[in-house]
Amino acid sequence: MPMKTVSILGIPVACLTMQQVLAWVEKRIEAGKPAHIVTANAEIIYRASRKPELGKLLRQADLITADGSGVVWAGRKLNSPLPERVTGVDLTQQLLAWAAEKSWRVYFLGAKPEVVEKAVLRTLSKHPQLQISGYHHGYFVKQEIDQVVSNIHKAKPHLLFVALGAPRQEYFIQEHLEQLAASVAIGVGGTFDVLAGTAQRAPLWMQQRGLEWLYRLCRQPRRLGRMLALPCFVRAVCRQRKASQGLDKT
Ligand code: UDP
Repeated sequence: MPMKTVSILGIPVACLTMQQVLAWVEKRIEAGKPAHIVTANAEIIYRASRKPELGKLLRQADLITADGSGVVWAGRKLNSPLPERVTGVDLTQQLLAWAAEKSWRVYFLGAKPEVVEKAVLRTLSKHPQLQISGYHHGYFVKQEIDQVVSNIHKAKPHLLFVALGAPRQEYFIQEHLEQLAASVAIGVGGTFDVLAGTAQRAPLWMQQRGLEWLYRLCRQPRRLGRMLALPCFVRAVCRQRKASQGLDKT
């Protein structure tokens, strides 16, 4: 059955709950067919709407989840509600617990060397039976890409978490998906910083009120430039809604 999606600025975001995404991942792992998951926030969707090459890349992914309250808001605004946020960090934490239970091999690619190392150690102390088949930091140069890809290929992970920042991680996954020999590769942004404990998530009340972006902005003011995409995203979604209302009347 085709997956129900909501087109937000031309990007098809899956109408799936976290549990449904987990079930989808399990099926893909059982099928042994490589899959690319994008956890898309409002910023990347807006950038993709402005940059055809990035838009094409996202549309070629196998699954796009709603990473953030901005995307869920857009679904509501477009009268196609998304069931809930499925963020990169939440999805990673859920998948790591499943992987430990189901003996899936996982691989961590991305973040600073000391951060990814700490993320691996802290994850193993939480899930001692988890098979982490390898890890590598995300500050490799072009000449090292083949080696990085070959190491992942040898490790044959069922789940590959790629935390190089968006959209670099999406380009990396798409370009190398076949050679990586991973079942499911997911772009997860700053997730390893959270797993390592070097970055904190917003308090739950802020997450529940859709204010995680404000918390991140206060902690990392250098994100201000990037966050200017948010009001542009809101305006573009309102334009899309108006255009679709106009079409409904014809
Ligand atoms: N990063 C990396 N290689 C780079 C640039 C960034 O591995 O060349 C990592 C960075 O250390 C951080 C993550 O990518 O762990 C990006 O985090 P951010 O919160 O900016 O994610 P985004 O919001 O872009 O998804």
